[in-house]
Order: sequence, then C-alpha cells, then structure tokens
Amino acid sequence: MGAHVMMLSSLGHGHLIPFMQLAQKLAAKGLTVSFVTTFHHIPSLRKKVDGACEAGLDIHLLEMEIPHDHLTLGKVNSNSVQWHQLPPLLDADERLQPHFQRFLERFLAGEISSLPAPVCLITDFLLGWSSAVAQKFGIPRVSFETSGMFAESVQQIVWDTLPRNLPRTASGRYLVPGVPKEVRLSRLQLLPELPEATPENGTHQFWVRQRRGNKQSWRTIVNTFYELEGEFVDHFERVNGTLRTIGPLLSPEAFEDGHVERKRIAPAVELGTSTEGEKCMQWLDEQAEESVLYISFGSENSIPTAQVEELALGLEASGVKFVWVLRMPSDAAQNSFTSALDSLPAGLHSRMAAKNQGFFVLGWAPQVGILAHPSTGGFLSHCGWNAVLESTTTGVPLIAWPLYAEQPFNSKLVVDEIGIAVEAPQRIEQNWLVTRDDVERIVRSLMIEEKGKELRKRVKALKAAAKTAVGEGGSSSKSFDLFVSEIMALPQA
Ligand code: UDP
Repeated sequence: MGAHVMMLSSLGHGHLIPFMQLAQKLAAKGLTVSFVTTFHHIPSLRKKVDGACEAGLDIHLLEMEIPHDHLTLGKVNSNSVQWHQLPPLLDADERLQPHFQRFLERFLAGEISSLPAPVCLITDFLLGWSSAVAQKFGIPRVSFETSGMFAESVQQIVWDTLPRNLPRTASGRYLVPGVPKEVRLSRLQLLPELPEATPENGTHQFWVRQRRGNKQSWRTIVNTFYELEGEFVDHFERVNGTLRTIGPLLSPEAFEDGHVERKRIAPAVELGTSTEGEKCMQWLDEQAEESVLYISFGSENSIPTAQVEELALGLEASGVKFVWVLRMPSDAAQNSFTSALDSLPAGLHSRMAAKNQGFFVLGWAPQVGILAHPSTGGFLSHCGWNAVLESTTTGVPLIAWPLYAEQPFNSKLVVDEIGIAVEAPQRIEQNWLVTRDDVERIVRSLMIEEKGKELRKRVKALKAAAKTAVGEGGSSSKSFDLFVSEIMALPQA
C-alpha cells in the first residue's frame, strides 16, 4: 500500500470535479487516497470510484456524517445571494469543521476504516479552518486552490482591502495594488455590492478567515499551469507560501486534437443522464465545424427570466447555432414554470427546433465532451475557473459573462490579459442585463467575424501550451511529480 492521502473538497460541484481528477492522478502514482465526502455526493461518485478501483487504483470513498439539513444542494443559486451576508454554500463549507474534526477522531481511532493515519490532508482552499484541524492531529495540510492565480491574487487584495480603500483612476477605475502588473477594474468587474462593502461584510470576513488558515498550510497546489498566468503564480507563492501548479486537471483525452471518440471523455463525476448528453452529441455530429456556440453558466448559477428572454432573442437574431444548458431561472420562485423551457419567449423553442438552430440541455451537460467536439466553435461562459481551463484545453474561445464571486476576475484575465474572450456588456443602468442587441452583436463577433478568428488563434496556442504543460517534462507534470515525491517523503504512521 502507498502512502495514504486524505482529501476533502468544498461542497460545490465545481470543486468536487477537480478533486476527483486529482484523486485519480495521485492514485495512479501509487498513493492510497481516501476521498471524504457528504451524503450529497456519494451517489454521483460511487460509480466513478468503483471504476477506478477496478482499474487498479487505490481510492476509498468515505462518508463524513453531517445533518441532512446542513445544505440542500441544488437549491443554492449563487448569483441571487446577498454578499453582505455569507452565501449559503460558503457558510455550509465553514460549518463542516466540527463534523470533519469528529470524523477524523473516529477515523484515527479505527472506527471508520482500516486504513492507516494519513500522511497529509488535501483540503479545499475554501476550508481554511482545516489547517487548525490538521495541526490538532499533527498532520500536514495541503491547501488545494481550485481557482486560478490571477483571480485569487486580485480577489485576495480586493476582498481583504475592500474597494472603498483602493486607489482609483481619474475615470473611476479601481487600481489593485501589490500585484505584478497594473490591474484596473471597472465597476462591472466587481460584484454589485462590493464597492460599498465595509469591514462588517460577511464575505470580507470569510475571506480574511480563509487566508489566515490557508497561509498555515504545508503546501498549496493549484489547478492551473505556469504558461497561462506565471507572473501571478509567482506573486501568489510570494504572498502565501510554497505552491505547486498541477493543472489543467482534466482527463488526458480532453487535450487531444480533432475528433475525440466522445465516449472516451468520461466525466469526472457522474451527474447527467447519459441519454440527454448522447442526444446533444449526436446533434453536434450533424453540424459544421466550429459553427456551434455552447452556453453554460456553470453548476450552481442561473440567470433571471428577463435575461433568459434577451439572450434567447439575441441568439435567434444572430442566426448562430447553439447548445444551451438551460436551468430554471434564478427568479423561478416568482413564476409558475414547470420546466426551464417555460422561461423562454413564447414560441422560441419550437422555432429553434424547426430551423435546427438550437439544442437545449435541461439536465447536466457532458461539458468537456461538448467543448472537445469539432463542431463547437465558441463558449458563452460565466467564467468559473473550470470553464476557463476547459475552454483553454480544448481550444474554444469565450464570451465572458461573469455572474458572481471570482468570475469577474477570471473574465478580466481571459478578456484583457490573455485575449481569448470577448466580454458580454452587462448594463448597470439596466440592472446588469445584457440586451438582445448586445447578445446578437457579441455572438456574431465571436462566431462569424474577424474578432473571433483572432481569439481562436490565441486560444489554440494556449491549448498547445496546456498539452505541453501536462505532458512528460512539462511544467505541471514536473511540479506534480515533485509534489508526489514530497508526499512520499512524509513520515508514515
Ligand atoms: N459542468 C458540467 N455540466 C454542466 C454544468 C457544469 O459538466 O451542465 C461542469 C463543468 O465542466 C465544470 C464544472 O461543472 O467542470 C463547473 O465548474 P466551474 O468552475 O466552471 O463553475 P462553478 O459551477 O463552480 O461556478
């Protein structure tokens, strides 16, 4: 048996997915991995873990008991929360502390499994408290940043300092001090409430607690690659301590060129019904190369009904083909929708079917498979970090449409720093709505006009860089091997 590593992710799906990818990579190096999770995720992880074990990997899925009303996943709509309070998902992550402490006590007493004590704990950067728990039991803690280094560096300064204390340019832009190059943020690149936030703000206090905990980690690992945002990797390491870049954490097939046998890109976590995903892939098979725009706002968000309407009508007017992962709108409670399709403008769904212009996915989409499909030529995204890495790895340019949290900073990275995205103009005077005319213009600019060609060229260069980074001798590959050797050198129980 290899050295035993114990892992604990945040409750959010966007965290669980890279954690599971990492578990498999560590086990493939001969380590024993225990993957601790809650009842929410056992069903979607069980099949994956069983499959990995059959393939010879030593991964153990362990349930940490928590009350069933701890958090109702699926009921959280992150972009409709008030950020002066702590958003429910972050609050639920913080409240895991006593449960994990109890779990670890029982584990070390041999009451949960016969595995030896872990040589280290790899826990989410949103679980800053886990440094204190790890110290209590004398186990080194690794903080896993599932977010990018540009966004994390900027976020750390913006949330810790608060925008009201930041210097401003003559035109009112916020300047972020202390980062390796000048970063100017517009009002749009901050959350609606952030400019007025005071030290009493719940999210500000949350971030201060996380940073304090995370700085006490033995190591930090990051799901990014040096060639993407190296200056900010170096900056983050200077501020927060030794780190290793180990991304993009995606299955090897996602890095391949051309038509990848889609069944080979197995999702990291089994959440969808395979029939809906399969129909979507078949529809894509019939479309022209790089002609389809893929639209998704991530695993936790949806947009309000008024925005669904503007997006739908703008898409229709653009004439561009699309696959849209359509969720119940964020204000669904105020409407009597029985299906997310009810939030579309009257007749639009049947018009799109008749013209064969659009395909709607109502459940969980096989996102990486869709992005790797040769018919997909653009990605309208909320700019979650996984989405950014997936678009980079598959070479698909973006329309950046951030909704909350660190997404505006990721958007700034892809639009202004690395130039692989156009920005959807959210209009503050119209309650942050992107109008149908703007949707039409921006979609045509990415999918039809010269601008899109430039962005596509740049993202293809990054795709090559990502593949090199994870290949033998590449930056992430070397950094990962170093990390594994450091784990193996830790004393075993
Ligand atoms: N995802 C997916 N199908 C969906 C929605 C999301 O496979 O229908 C995956 C997506 O590929 C990504 C993750 O869920 O790996 C979402 O993470 P991201 O960081 O982009 O956003 P978050 O959901 O955390 O805001």
